[in-house]
Amino acid sequence: MVNPPYPVLDDLIEMIGQAGFHLAEIEASEGAAGNISVCMRWPVDPRNRFPVEEEFILPQAVPELAGATFIVSGSGRRLRELRQDPAVHLACLTVNEGGETAKLFTAYNRRFERVTSEFNSHLAVHYDQMTATDTNFHAVVHAQPLHLTYLSHIPRYQDEKYLNQHLLRWQPETIINLPEGIGFIPFMLPGSQDLMAANVTCLREHRIVIWSKHGVMARSDISVKRAADRVEYAETAAKYEYLNLQIGEIGEGLSPEEVRTICSTFNVEQNIF
Ligand SMILES: [Zn+2]
Repeated sequence: MVNPPYPVLDDLIEMIGQAGFHLAEIEASEGAAGNISVCMRWPVDPRNRFPVEEEFILPQAVPELAGATFIVSGSGRRLRELRQDPAVHLACLTVNEGGETAKLFTAYNRRFERVTSEFNSHLAVHYDQMTATDTNFHAVVHAQPLHLTYLSHIPRYQDEKYLNQHLLRWQPETIINLPEGIGFIPFMLPGSQDLMAANVTCLREHRIVIWSKHGVMARSDISVKRAADRVEYAETAAKYEYLNLQIGEIGEGLSPEEVRTICSTFNVEQNIF
């Protein structure tokens, strides 16, 4: 939930640019991999930045989001370049009454044909979270962090309990920032209905989910940078785990007792350790 005064369109665009650039800095977005979207319920007039207006059929009906505005990265755009001239890489969508269509706003010199091909997954998560929690803001980030994605190729890390007990043991902050742990979805075809449905369900329980052998999706109802932070916390945990594997697993990590003490001291509810 974002409290007034609400960030203006330019501020949101700038934060998307910074989040995208940082995801590239942490090796979570090679080439044109990864995509970002935010949804807000307060009134936004995108026409100054995005003067070209056309009708857009939404991948699913979202009647409760009528009047809400999305900012979405364009297909094939590089997250590392979003912050330079963001309007050419981003689109704005305002949901029409009934929620089946939207007005798509873009810049005259936009550098993409369509919005990200993962928009169906983004929209489904925004819709599910925003109707379940009544938040007025929601951000979703898809990225492909190297170490997390690599670990998702190793069978024993495909077990959610094993994954979390091994990744959340390296720094006290990890359990505080990801108290529900990292969700895990087995490999599914990118952009498929199956991935979309599993992703929505998994993100009800977790703030970040691994799409096995592909990447992650993270969400936040506070800011797009907070969603990107969740990718970074999880990826840092995976880096520690990778380091430990490489060196013959001599690191002991925080013990379950130590993690439980951290959680009771900082009032973190968790059921991983
Ligand atoms: Zn991807």
